[in-house]
Amino acid sequence: MRMRSFWSELLTAAASHPFPLVPGDVVSLYELPRYDDVGDDDDDLFPNVPAAPGMPCMGEDRSIYRRGARRWRKLYRVNGHIFQAKRFNRRAFCAFCQDRIWGLGRQGFKCIQCKLLVHKKCHKLVQKPCSSEHVDPIEVKDETNGEGTLPRASSVRSRADPEPPLPDTPPAPPAAPAVRSEDLEPGSQRQYSLDDFELIRVIGRGSYAKVLMVELRRTKRVYAMKVIKKALVTDDEDIDWVQTEKHVFETASNHPFLVGLHSCFQTPSRLFFVIEFVRGGDLMFHMQRQRRLPEEHARFYAAEISLALHFLHSHGIIYRDLKLDNVLLDHEGHIKLTDYGMCKEGVRPGDTTSTFCGTPNYIAPEILRGEEYGFSVDWWALGVLTYEMLAGRSPFDIAQAADNPDQNTEDYLFQVILEKTIRIPRSLSVKAASVLKGFLNKSAAERLGCGENAFLDILHHPFFKTIDWEMLEQKQVVPPFKPRLESERDLANFPPEFTDEPVHLTPDNDTVIADIDQSEFEGFEYVNPLLMSLEDCV
Ligand code: ADP
Ligand code: MG
Repeated sequence: MRMRSFWSELLTAAASHPFPLVPGDVVSLYELPRYDDVGDDDDDLFPNVPAAPGMPCMGEDRSIYRRGARRWRKLYRVNGHIFQAKRFNRRAFCAFCQDRIWGLGRQGFKCIQCKLLVHKKCHKLVQKPCSSEHVDPIEVKDETNGEGTLPRASSVRSRADPEPPLPDTPPAPPAAPAVRSEDLEPGSQRQYSLDDFELIRVIGRGSYAKVLMVELRRTKRVYAMKVIKKALVTDDEDIDWVQTEKHVFETASNHPFLVGLHSCFQTPSRLFFVIEFVRGGDLMFHMQRQRRLPEEHARFYAAEISLALHFLHSHGIIYRDLKLDNVLLDHEGHIKLTDYGMCKEGVRPGDTTSTFCGTPNYIAPEILRGEEYGFSVDWWALGVLTYEMLAGRSPFDIAQAADNPDQNTEDYLFQVILEKTIRIPRSLSVKAASVLKGFLNKSAAERLGCGENAFLDILHHPFFKTIDWEMLEQKQVVPPFKPRLESERDLANFPPEFTDEPVHLTPDNDTVIADIDQSEFEGFEYVNPLLMSLEDCV
């Protein structure tokens, strides 16, 4: 019998809800643009294609493998309209109150069917029913491999369906020229450009970015360079995550277990984050080789990750994308979290947010239930990751279901996360089982790290009894595993599927660039003053 779809139930419930719905009532899947719609093909993410939907790719291990992070987008239904939050940088007027839709941020709503524009504050008051004669079915779920190797389904807003012209639209600003250091006023801060770096190798890919190992020609120092195509972020709502990623990289530069930022710059087609190169590879790489870790190792990583998460939380940041691929090991074996593209900033204690996002296997039940959530989601993800380290598989391992297409979907995975009791392998110690049960409590309020004593409960948990937290924070505890590295540039800890790729970036494609609003990226350039003064000492 076919399982009832979690999402279809959610949307059926939402559709039968009396109008108007309050924001947050309807959560719908919203996909990233297909990467191959974005122009060139050599930067394609996850180039491996399964033989059939739902089948593993060649050489794929179904229990531990890279999964893409995603953002879903909220849709708000009022009077037949299906509104979506939008940024408007051109002149737009509210169809309800006739005033201009002002300011930065997602101040406006646009109906994805009839294109009606209204203020966010006015959307619930709209009397006029949706006039769209041709109503495209709302795509509420993708049909990709349910285990989320890659969001390949097309987005709800068709790319062939451009914004209607707005009144008084000024001509698009010219493409932002790449800033060259020689063009700057003497004495002004030195900016970087692509020419300052030699591109050495591809070392990783995620859902949004390609990451390269590069050398800063002037100092011969090695960095990682995270390259993001602007075409992937020009989607109106998405620009904010680039700003957030940059801010969090800046904040992260002050913590031993977080990857810090060297500089940012752009070309007409791409954004570049130059960040610390972390030589030991990511935990995904190591887990795929070691299958499962001794408890002592898992304890050390979980403890260092806890400190990194606590630092982010105390700076008002929910990380939201903790997973094996985002935890790197440095040359000594200490951890460093990277990838701040899913972070939520500006969260004060007690504050909540509601965006539906993350990597499917790590998404906390409160997010799936559509509830408001806070820092609790990161402690849940730490539970999933610690389980993976100790057991060598996900607590929501639906690999056995691979032959049954009904059980091979994202809906099914979400249902398992929400409902299934997690079985802890009997081989684990009592303390390990207890910490896993603590983090993997489906009730956020009762979860380890989320109660009244918050972080203290983690510090004092029996599983972490042997950890000297102060020494740990000062990197004074010797890591249990030292990555094998023969030189500063040894890439033995990065998957050959990446390092064997050609390193070049394809030349800019004029038609792709013509669609990019360069004004969205103004002010992206950045140089970390601390790193600069270090470099000057070289
Ligand atoms: P995305 O936002 O697309 O997920 P990530 O920032 O997670 O991109 O980078 C993709 C992969 O690149 C990571 O999983 C990791 O293996 C590798 N990587 C990222 N940053 C670094 C770094 N600073 N040093 C070494 N490897 C890195
Ligand atoms: Mg990532």
